[in-house]
Amino acid sequence: MKEINSKVASIEESIFSQMTSLANQHRAINLAQGFPNFEGPKFIRNALKEAVSKKAYGQYAPMPGISPLLQELKNHYRESYQLYYDEKSEITITNGATEAIMVSSLALLEPGDEVILFEPFYDSYPISAKLAGADIKVVTLREPDFKWNSQELRAAFSPKTKLVYFNNPNNPTGRVFTKEELNELLALAREFDAYILSDEVYEFLTYDNHHHIPIASLEGAKERTLTISSAGKTYGHTGLKVGWLAASPQITHACRMVHQFNVFSVNPMAQYAVAVGLQQNEKYIPQLRSTYEKKRDLLFNALKETPFTPIKPQGTYFILAKIPEAKISEGLNDLALCKQLITQSKVATIPPSAFYSKSQEGALFLRFCFAKDDATLEEAAKNLKSFF
Ligand code: PMP
Ligand code: GLN
Repeated sequence: MKEINSKVASIEESIFSQMTSLANQHRAINLAQGFPNFEGPKFIRNALKEAVSKKAYGQYAPMPGISPLLQELKNHYRESYQLYYDEKSEITITNGATEAIMVSSLALLEPGDEVILFEPFYDSYPISAKLAGADIKVVTLREPDFKWNSQELRAAFSPKTKLVYFNNPNNPTGRVFTKEELNELLALAREFDAYILSDEVYEFLTYDNHHHIPIASLEGAKERTLTISSAGKTYGHTGLKVGWLAASPQITHACRMVHQFNVFSVNPMAQYAVAVGLQQNEKYIPQLRSTYEKKRDLLFNALKETPFTPIKPQGTYFILAKIPEAKISEGLNDLALCKQLITQSKVATIPPSAFYSKSQEGALFLRFCFAKDDATLEEAAKNLKSFF
């Protein structure tokens, strides 16, 4: 038989699926894959039930998305960030942020183009770029503050740079980037005429005095930015798989043409539930942030009582914690320790070296998800303490 596509042949099962199946196999607490283990808001499930009873929502949705959702998203960007997106020509509903990332990559990139990734990166970025045929340049966000080095960033740009993949708030570091940082990135993108793919799926999950600023809301950014977000994290149901992509009419058109022949359109019942969800934001989002901030503190304080050194996240629902020196000197890297914790402590985490391709720094950390009920977090903490 002839070979399958060589770019596809090297792709492995995602680290999230791998760790979730190991967790299930060993009946371990799953602090690995990012999803909540507690009930999400009732208004989402009620809206899903309501949508099932609407005849029109049993048929194909319009290719760009259903108009109640497009309208709510337009309102959200305008009211939350003074960012103006036209719902007819600038917003497209996708099958989760994952589809938006792939669609953007296929719509913009071709062989010979270069892209910039910040590592640790979300795992779908390098694959999407690679499938589109682009060459990848990597800039490392270094611990403990996970800021980029300005010289390293500038050096990654070239006249061939077409797209920068940027995730803010950042999974897995928990960074929420400042306006100064966003302006620095934007200035380089403008100088080298590059697009910015801004993955903002954790836009509402920010803590303390950290607030999310979409890079597209900065002056001169919108025309070259693809703003991507998703309902999964915000509305506690990652299975919804409703995401979106907001960009100029020219970029939107190109992305829609790929989306059209990828999935054509997204489940209208799920889209309707998200439209209803967005209407609740004023009341719901402050509750969401305070719930998760307490969970962050619970897990952060519990990890501090173990030999791990956790880094307090400013956003997302993940904590990176440094592996104790003693374990590193025993020759254990992140993956080896992760496997030991699953089998011996019944706690599953993510080994972050899966999010690095240049630096070895990922091997020094584990990623813990705190989107779990308090009893689960407490039990996990107890197990971790008794491991050492
Ligand atoms: N980007 C980041 C940074 C993520 O953590 C995730 C996981 N939710 C996604 C994209 C994918 O989002 P979705 O589930 O909506 O496809
Ligand atoms: N975004 C989730 C995480 O970081 C995983 C999503 C997935 O499994 N595709 O854990």
